[in-house]
Formats: sequence, structure tokens, C-alpha cells
Amino acid sequence: MISNTILSFAKSILCDVLNPGCIAIDATTGNGYDTVFLSRLAGGEGKVFGFDIQEDAIEQTEERLNEECLPENWTLFCSGHENMQELIPEEYHGRINIVMFNLGFLPGSDKTVITQAETTLKAVRSALALLCRGGVVSIAIYAGHPGGSEEDVAVREFCAELDYHAFRVIQSEMTNKPGYPIRMLFVTKL
Ligand code: SAH
Repeated sequence: MISNTILSFAKSILCDVLNPGCIAIDATTGNGYDTVFLSRLAGGEGKVFGFDIQEDAIEQTEERLNEECLPENWTLFCSGHENMQELIPEEYHGRINIVMFNLGFLPGSDKTVITQAETTLKAVRSALALLCRGGVVSIAIYAGHPGGSEEDVAVREFCAELDYHAFRVIQSEMTNKPGYPIRMLFVTKL
């Protein structure tokens, strides 16, 4: 079936990059669905790191991972993704295959806790540094909430200026979403 959400579309693309033994980062674990997706595909030989600033989100993600009986290939940090370079052990630097960002606020939770342009940009820079060649950073961007459009513009401007000889950036958009589009960026490191 053709994807009916931007994240299922992203996952259908990321499936091609994420093989057993891969190393992935979920930069915004939220309710944990993406962490489960990454953990399952990375498998017992792989590794997944997850970040969220909300304790509830980390707890929910941990519960979901345990319920799904996935291999214990994951480590969760209740910390901002802007700290990923310091928190991810050095042995993994330059070996990360996928970093997923799902920006904005967590549906059903405190809508004032949102990702912010400045910390998001710091985290995206770190993510690009941590990637292996051929690795991908995916970023789902929501512009409809207060603060969202500033982040949307900042992230897209940053990605549009990345060196074409070092990275390729592809953007998709759910264009007919009432109110505002949802955007998806895929940045591949050459
Ligand atoms: N808008 C998406 C869900 C986004 S969830 C949707 O509609 O599906 C975004 C998550 O990012 C939230 O759980 C929030 O707590 C988390 N977050 C906010 N700032 C963060 C930061 N600096 N580092 C890591 N996670 C952060």
C-alpha cells in the first residue's frame, strides 16, 4: 500500500538502508514507535540509541521495546539530542547508519514541550558527523504549532546549504494536509 503517513513513507525508504547489524539513533523517541522499528531491523548484532528530554517518553519507549520482545540492542538517554556526540560512545562515531528525527511536540502530551530550532540544528550537525558513508539522517518537520515554522525554515535552510559533494538532500512533502504541509528530509552522506 502507498504510505498514508509521512513516517510510514520514511520507514519504507529507510528499510533499504537499515540491515541486521546496523547502528541507528532515534533522536526523538516520543512514544517509542520509531525506536521499535529501528531495534527490530538492527537485530541482535545491531545497536540503537534513543534520546528524549521527557522522562515519560523514555519510560513509554522502554515499555514498548520490552513488550515487543526485541533484542536488548538499545540504550536510551533522557537527554537532549544536542548532546548525542558526547553521549554516544566513541567506538560508534562514524559508524551510524541512520538517525531519525521526528520534530515538534508529542501528540497527547504537553504541547509546550517542543523541539527548538537551535538545539535541533546542533543535533543535526552532530548526526551528520556521526554517520558512516552511505548513512542517512531523516527529519520529519511539522510547521503548524507555535515555534514550528521557525524550526521548519531553519532546518530546511541548513540542509539546502550542505555541500553537494559531501551530502545529498531529498525533500518530500505531504502537500494537501489541511493547514500546513508535513515535510520529510533525507540527508545522505556520500
Ligand atoms: N510531532 C510528532 C511527534 C514528535 S515527538 C508527531 O506528530 O508524530 C517529539 C519528541 O521530541 C517529544 O517526545 C519531545 O519530548 C522530544 N524532544 C523535544 N526536545 C528534544 C531534545 N532537545 N532532544 C530530544 N528530544 C526532544
